[in-house]
Amino acid sequence: MVYEHDVLVVGAGLSGLRTAIELSDEYDVAVLTKVHPLRSHSVAAQGGINASLGEDDSWEAHAFDTVKGADYLADQDAVEVLTKNATSAVIENEHWGTAFSRKGDGSLAQRPFGGAMFPRTCYAADRTGHNLLHTTFEQALRKAVKIYSEWFVTSLVADKDGIFGLTAFSLATGQVDGFCSSAVVLATGGFGRVFGKSTNAIINTGDGCALALNSGVPLKDMEFVQFHPTTLFGSNILMTEGARGEGGHLKNSEGKRFMEDYAPDQMELAPRDIVARAIRTEIREGRGVENEYVHLDVRHLGETKIKERLPGIREICIHFAGLDPIEEPIPVQPGQHYSMGGIDCDKEGTTKLPGLFAVGETSCMSVHGANRLGGNSLLETLVFGHVVGKRVGEYLENQRRRSNKEVEEAVFDIRQNLQSLVMREEGELMSSVRMEMNAVMDEKAGVFRNEEDLQQALAEIRDLGQRFDRAALGQTDERFNYALIRALELKNMLDIAEVIVLGAIHRKESRGAHWREDYPERNDTDYLKHTLVTKEDDELKVSYSPVTLGQFEVKERSY
Ligand SMILES: Cc1cc2nc3c(=O)[nH]c(=O)nc-3n(C[C@H](O)[C@H](O)[C@H](O)COP(=O)(O)OP(=O)(O)OC[C@H]3O[C@@H](n4cnc5c(N)ncnc54)[C@H](O)[C@@H]3O)c2cc1C
Repeated sequence: MVYEHDVLVVGAGLSGLRTAIELSDEYDVAVLTKVHPLRSHSVAAQGGINASLGEDDSWEAHAFDTVKGADYLADQDAVEVLTKNATSAVIENEHWGTAFSRKGDGSLAQRPFGGAMFPRTCYAADRTGHNLLHTTFEQALRKAVKIYSEWFVTSLVADKDGIFGLTAFSLATGQVDGFCSSAVVLATGGFGRVFGKSTNAIINTGDGCALALNSGVPLKDMEFVQFHPTTLFGSNILMTEGARGEGGHLKNSEGKRFMEDYAPDQMELAPRDIVARAIRTEIREGRGVENEYVHLDVRHLGETKIKERLPGIREICIHFAGLDPIEEPIPVQPGQHYSMGGIDCDKEGTTKLPGLFAVGETSCMSVHGANRLGGNSLLETLVFGHVVGKRVGEYLENQRRRSNKEVEEAVFDIRQNLQSLVMREEGELMSSVRMEMNAVMDEKAGVFRNEEDLQQALAEIRDLGQRFDRAALGQTDERFNYALIRALELKNMLDIAEVIVLGAIHRKESRGAHWREDYPERNDTDYLKHTLVTKEDDELKVSYSPVTLGQFEVKERSY
């Protein structure tokens, strides 16, 4: 079977739905998603979304904080789009129905977040993503956007002149089908699950990045992986930056607020890369609690404020750590959290492949550079959902649908591939390959990196790739074959892990979230540029592209 639409959006998180809404008045737009839209990772966002609403605040101040936070690797023209459109994006969602928290006078409340000069983060308690996604989903339903839920996209179909469509399989039937369209927008979210210790949903496996890479589109700045300073020890569930924004303290085993040694001005509200390294350093130097974690202490905020502003955090602590943060400090350690890198595209989402666009966490425009500020990612999904939707609309005005034949042929090939994967009954289990990949990435490509570890990681990831080709699926069911989905995701993650490590090996400097112990300085002379990794004839090639500078001069970064 072949389905036809003007445009296909892959992903039903905030960025995919916002893009689809933009297109829905004029075009036949369909969204494909591997889980129900409301289970997209956007739903888990806690702390908030940035907009310069304050009287003394301005889009320029927001842009400056973003560029400095990014360690000057962000493209300043893209940051301008992000910050200039922040207020309208937040107000639009508010008018659609998001129940933002408010001040006594009824105006939107804003909390301080890391690396920001003003309290700029709008929030709905500590469940901001939940509110935004439900509201945006309602709008997509109102606009009658067609949604293919629990369809897993397996390949893009394209030649050098552009997109024909894609192939996907339905979890419910196990059937592979073709989808023809003049444009495809990848809105598939992050790739956090390449790492073991991660705040990301289990579905954040970077499928869109792998689809782009395998269609000849470069991935950009993939070595810049954000490690969130405060994830719950044991499960690595996120403890929002909002907890520090509300006044929470970080303390080592001696009870000291150690951030005074690392960022004396901003303390706990320094950007995430700096706080994550500070925590890891405290633990390495023997001042961690039980040598494993530090304490996030919110007890002094008092019961009323904790219940009102951080109810989700309190519930998570009670259910997953058996402690009440009103009475006890929270054990935290850094964990993978966000993918600054992604599919190489311009500030309207256009990629090198005609008809292929990218938006949201899977894209790299680049507005976050080497380190994202909290609250800027939810903002990116809404602002660029709108911008990319508009751009795709313009693109479609001049397009005629190309032939369906290529998609039909691709369906045939994918069916064969999946069939042979499902039939592989002998061999080691995929899950052991996945666990080893997670361990390699946690240990050798984490907060602190060096040449020896990274070279070992590269060799081990390549070896795991070969083991994947021989591993067994262990489940032959046609319908609801979750093992098949996990295997396809693992294949994608192995591709991505290799790209991350390769980028990290080549970038012999420390900038933002990428910290090389053997090159601890930022080196603007050689590395103020974006890394591009492209797959050509099954080989990964590294090249570079310039950073777009602008009104903010490149300076040393201190807090
Ligand atoms: C725990 C947590 C808390 C966060 N808190 C904040 C915060 O407070 N503020 C902030 O600014 N940012 C926050 N972030 C980051 C932010 O939430 C994300 O970057 C953003 O929501 C990503 O949105 P997205 O639309 O790009 O992708 P997602 O919401 O991740 O959606 C991805 C979509 O792609 C689909 N998909 C993926 N692969 C396939 C495939 N092969 N086939 C079909 N469909 C596919 C999925 O089904 C899903 O619908 C947080 C992130 C986490 C993990």
